[in-house]
This record gives sequence, structure tokens and C-alpha cells, in this order.
Amino acid sequence: MSDQEKDSSVGSATSHSPLTTSLVVRDHRRIFVDNLYVYAVVSRRSKGVSIGINLNPDKICNFDCVYCQVDRKTPPVVREVDLSRLIEELYEMIELVQTGKLFEMERFRETPPHLRRLNDIAFSGDGEPTTCPDFFNIVEAIADVKQHRCQDAKLILITNASMFDRRQVKAALATIDRNNGEIWAKLEAGTEDYYRLVDRTTIPFQRILDNIKAEAQCAPLVIQALFMRIHDQPPPAEELEAFCDRLNEVTAAGGQIKLVQVYTVARVPAEAWVTALSDAEVDAIVELVQKRTGLTAEAFYGPS
Ligand code: SF4
Repeated sequence: MSDQEKDSSVGSATSHSPLTTSLVVRDHRRIFVDNLYVYAVVSRRSKGVSIGINLNPDKICNFDCVYCQVDRKTPPVVREVDLSRLIEELYEMIELVQTGKLFEMERFRETPPHLRRLNDIAFSGDGEPTTCPDFFNIVEAIADVKQHRCQDAKLILITNASMFDRRQVKAALATIDRNNGEIWAKLEAGTEDYYRLVDRTTIPFQRILDNIKAEAQCAPLVIQALFMRIHDQPPPAEELEAFCDRLNEVTAAGGQIKLVQVYTVARVPAEAWVTALSDAEVDAIVELVQKRTGLTAEAFYGPS
């Protein structure tokens, strides 16, 4: 899920997590048209460059979020992940960032000096990364590259948490955790009904909640929560209360949540009747989450 912020991008410009906080330029045209799996974004949130890995080049997802920004009208270039090609693209991208050549490119020239650093390698593409059949082996291979070429970078998984109960996925999560990793799990509903309205999947809400709880008991999670207007209606107050209740259930069960990212639609969503919340509405949700759960919450706004 959810591609996070993509402020300027290079490579196979894809996005899983929905949000974006504009920084350098809001421009997502492809630059390296030859790249199939690896791209780069400059991110204010991560205070540096994030190298994105798209493990869903077929653009298939087990969710169908109303706010999804993946362009599914354009047919995919490839449908499967070629691991050796992916690793080759990753080496090249790391070199571009580390040598500074990335910032000689037109699209990255305006990057402020303090953001000209590699922050992370993030699994975030055109679908749910953990559904990739070779997910475990790919994570192992990328962790190995990171170990040798950019040890300090984080390894981030942006996910809808639907597959955490699979053995291979669990093993991959453990590898991510051992490699300066962070799991950003999306949760943006408090009730089954609202979850179905927003995420449009047949996967039961309880499975997502159980998966989040179990993973949070192993390692601290970041929760990504996108709220929006649906047919011009903001999320109902009782839904937001229920959302806080779900977070409290995770922590009451011994789960750790290190951050709740509250954001809204920042790019063209799948459905025209989905629109962004105002900055004040996002702030109000952050305040509610902090008050009701005691967790740290951060606001990320929509287009200004
Ligand atoms: S449909 Fe899939 S790719 Fe799109 S935002 Fe939802 S989880 Fe992410």
C-alpha cells in the first residue's frame, strides 16, 4: 500500500502508498524509462532520498482503495519481477545518489542540500509488495545490497498488512526488522463497514487488525492512516473514535506503535468523489489520536 511521498521521482515512477507531501516539485514523469522496478523520490518526511522498489509491476493489488493513485489505465510494461534486473537497477540508483549525479538531473536540481542524502530503500509500488510470490528472497537480496553499499539506510516496507500471517512474509518482516527496518502498515478505519467502503477488498478487517497486532508485538510499527472526504463528507466522528479504539487494542495487547501518520489525498485518486481534507481537519484528527491513544501522531497535508 500506500506509496508515500513522492516529491520528485526518477526511474519507474510508481506508487503504492497514497500520500504525498510536496517538496521539491510535484512531478512524477518517468525519467529512466528503462527502469522497471527501481525509482527515487526526494522526501521531506524522510529528510532525504528514498529509493523505491516496485514489486507489483503487473499493477495488481489485493485492495482497491478509493484513493489509490496507481495508474491502472496504462497497461503494465512487465508483469513479473526479474530479481537480477532489479538488483542491477538498485546498484545503479544507489550510486547515482551517493555520487550526487542524481542531483545533476533537471528534476532533482532544486533539491536542498540537506535532503541530498540517501535515507531509505522502500518497498512501495503499484500493489501490495508482500503479495509478490518471491517476496522473501527479494527482501533477503536487497538487505544484502544494503549491507554492502548503504548500511545506514533504512529498509522500509509500506504495506496494507494483509499478508503478515503468511510464513514467508513473516520471515521477510524479520529480515527487514534486523536491517534497520521499519514497517509502515496502513490502517484507516475503525469499523468493518468503513474499511470496506475505503479499501474495497474481500479480506476481512479482523485479519488486518490481527496481523497488525501480531507484528506490533514483534517490532514497533508505523501506522499510515489516510482520511479523506467521500462525496464531500469527512470521516464520521464515530469512525475516528473507533479508529482510536483499534489502536488502543493493539497497544493494550502489548503491541508497539512508534508513530501514527495522519494524512489525506494529495494526488489524483482512483475515484473522482474522493477529495482531500483541509489542513485543519487533518490537524484535528492528529489531536484526537494523541488525546485518545497517547501515541505520537504526525500530520501530512493535501495539496495546498
Ligand atoms: S489499492 Fe493497493 S496499491 Fe492502491 S493504495 Fe490501496 S493498497 Fe495501495
